[in-house]
Amino acid sequence: MARLAAYLTDDAPTHGGRVLSYVYDSGRPELDALAGAAAAAVQAVNGLDPTTFPSVARLESDLVRFAREMLHGPTATGSVTSGGTESCLLAVLAAREQWRRRHAAGAQPGTVRPLIVLPASAHAAFHKAAHLFDLDLILVPVDAATGVPSVAEMVEAMDAAGDALALVVVSAPSYPHGVLDPIVEVAAAARTRDLPCHVDACIGGWVLPWWGAAGGDPLPPWDFAVPGVTSISADLHKYGFAPKGASLLLFSDPALDRARYFALTDWPGYPVVNPTLLGSRSATSLAAAWAVVQALGPGGYVELTRPTVRATAAVRAAVESIDGLRILGEPVGPLLAVAADLDTSGAVRADAVDPHAWATAVARAGFVLQGQPAFGLIPRSTHLTITPVTERVLAELIPVLIAAADEVRGAPERAEAAGAIPDPAQLAAAARAGGELDLASVLALIEMLPREQSAGLLTAFLAEFVAPPAGSDGQSTGVEV
Ligand SMILES: *Cc1c(COP(=O)(O)O)cnc(C)c1O
Repeated sequence: MARLAAYLTDDAPTHGGRVLSYVYDSGRPELDALAGAAAAAVQAVNGLDPTTFPSVARLESDLVRFAREMLHGPTATGSVTSGGTESCLLAVLAAREQWRRRHAAGAQPGTVRPLIVLPASAHAAFHKAAHLFDLDLILVPVDAATGVPSVAEMVEAMDAAGDALALVVVSAPSYPHGVLDPIVEVAAAARTRDLPCHVDACIGGWVLPWWGAAGGDPLPPWDFAVPGVTSISADLHKYGFAPKGASLLLFSDPALDRARYFALTDWPGYPVVNPTLLGSRSATSLAAAWAVVQALGPGGYVELTRPTVRATAAVRAAVESIDGLRILGEPVGPLLAVAADLDTSGAVRADAVDPHAWATAVARAGFVLQGQPAFGLIPRSTHLTITPVTERVLAELIPVLIAAADEVRGAPERAEAAGAIPDPAQLAAAARAGGELDLASVLALIEMLPREQSAGLLTAFLAEFVAPPAGSDGQSTGVEV
């Protein structure tokens, strides 16, 4: 345990509001303690078989019931998964299975490949789903100023996909820019074509439902109240304030819900039926999430959303007051994307603030923001996720945001010179030795290189970073052979 504690010392702080992505601190230590106790109570339970461990079914159905009301889908069914990515994967898998059944009759196998239509701002999890489950993607560009796709282009893409179309995805809100896709219109178009429409509310699912009641601006409908929405993903381990490892996936249509199950009687072992991707499943994250949701209830979530609404407004106003920076689009919840100011011709102003240089300067002052490289016409930006505890550090954060902008204003955008591509193994070794990663140059490199090449560099980097260190610099694991 001493060594575990030592390993943890180099981690970014998970609490206290200094890391504005990855972590969602409710600011209520008693909730963390409760989640830990609930997880410990089910440590040995195996979610593989809820008939042997009925507690798993009870915990899960309590959460589904809660989310049904929260998301206005009174008869929705679904599962608790290990996270947002797994929820998105299963939504795609269900749609692909339904598509295959519909097409089994007519089409020759292999002649038509199923397709997903989605805005370019949809989460990477859908690219992963297409990769794993062998679907194609039609990415609809989002407007560089608003971060939102046009309804006409979404519908055009759906029509272009024709028979191949298996699923349409929209986000509530999108992760990169925190803006709401045209869900009502896209879901209606999907409905007319008798196609499923998934709303990815992984990040918004547990905060947008309370936003208006907590003092935020009211939102247009985006959940199961919208006709045509057939599934929703909503992560418990984000604004549900549960420990990592829990997300909810709900379906309005029971047949689509069943399509994601995998059942097998074709082997000599136990009969298999898996509603999610895993076999043996820990119940720890499920029980922890359940405990947090029971303890908070709708009223508790509204209370936790109030400081989030106030802090979001404060950070937004501060950024808008900074000369050279702007908020991208019209964010509807607690996520903000900050980009460089433009001149009247739409080009980045020479005396603007480069968001990557800004984030680097903010990091030097102790706050971690998330860099987002430029993509197509969408400019590079810095992402901020606001949580209830952000309000407690506002008095420090806002002067830091302002001073960092003053520090880097007018400096040209960093772009790595061609031929200066760093060796990922060397970068990994340096980062592991405690050196600071120069994220601004990593992001510039991603913008500059072909996508396959930058993805390859990232793979090489992370594989090196997590591999056991060579030589004697690693501490003994205590294994004796
Ligand atoms: C976080 C997120 C995901 C992926 O969730 P993980 O829990 O990181 O796997 C998918 N979609 C959106 C919009 C998200 O914010």
